[in-house]
Amino acid sequence: MCPPLFGSPDFLEPPVYRPPSEAYSLILQATLGCSHNKCTFCGSYRTKQFSTKPFETFQAEVEHLARVQGVRPRRIFLADGDALVLSTEKLQRILKLLYKEFPGLERITIYGSAANTKQKSDDELRQLHEAGLDMVYIGLESGDDEILRRVIKGATNQDHIDACRRMIDAGLKVSVIIILGLGGTERSKEHAEHTATTINAIDPPYLAALTLMLVPGTELHAQAQEGSFNPLNPLETLHELRQIIDKLTDLTSCVFRTNHASNYLQLRGVLSKDRPRLLEEIDSVLSQPETARHLRPEFLRRL
Ligand code: SF4
Repeated sequence: MCPPLFGSPDFLEPPVYRPPSEAYSLILQATLGCSHNKCTFCGSYRTKQFSTKPFETFQAEVEHLARVQGVRPRRIFLADGDALVLSTEKLQRILKLLYKEFPGLERITIYGSAANTKQKSDDELRQLHEAGLDMVYIGLESGDDEILRRVIKGATNQDHIDACRRMIDAGLKVSVIIILGLGGTERSKEHAEHTATTINAIDPPYLAALTLMLVPGTELHAQAQEGSFNPLNPLETLHELRQIIDKLTDLTSCVFRTNHASNYLQLRGVLSKDRPRLLEEIDSVLSQPETARHLRPEFLRRL
């Protein structure tokens, strides 16, 4: 969810967000905004009324990019907030169109939610994978049900486990996103513990951690201003991350990254083999915070 966008500026309706690993993907908007748009920490699509793009409009944009501009992407990210909300039939038409118009296209990815997944049968998820949908990014945010309720995520921890397991069983890759500090000081311990338990239950191939940023205009920002939400400081955030990683012991082959611009510390590794090294990296910062050079300064953090 950060710039620069490697997309089709002619057709993009801002604001546009994408995961860090889609930095060099062509961004195409199949929907505008987020169908949920209620999370108290998220200001991403507050200015956008959710809508779906008519297939004919999407098709005309794709044909222009392919046939007039000669765009030849290897990767495409389907935006906006949860394009997986589209019907399976429409998504299949979109996937077919993209592979037809862009020879050399290797993968298509998308943001989705537990609610979107619940609307699709196992068979439909399999059909989407067979039609060339490669990976779904899903915001778990926290495995703690109390936090999910407070931030109005619209799904429980079990909803997320079920959704992710069903997608993985259908052949889709799943990249799970969590937000450090989302429970504030009050629920940091529960956030760490329940998030780790949930991730272990999902056993995703990819896991990314973001760090909470209080966005003006959101309910969570207002709660912090009035003192009913107490955000973590950078070292408390790292301590929370350490607690999570320490408990991620049941994963098969999960690539973990904190490469999002909101994070204080950049980490990367395969949890099943690199967990001790990742914990050491965090410990070296926690033990000598005053000399820690690797922490991203506050003014450089962004969404
Ligand atoms: S966090 Fe995701 S689901 Fe929640 S409002 Fe923002 S884009 Fe929508």
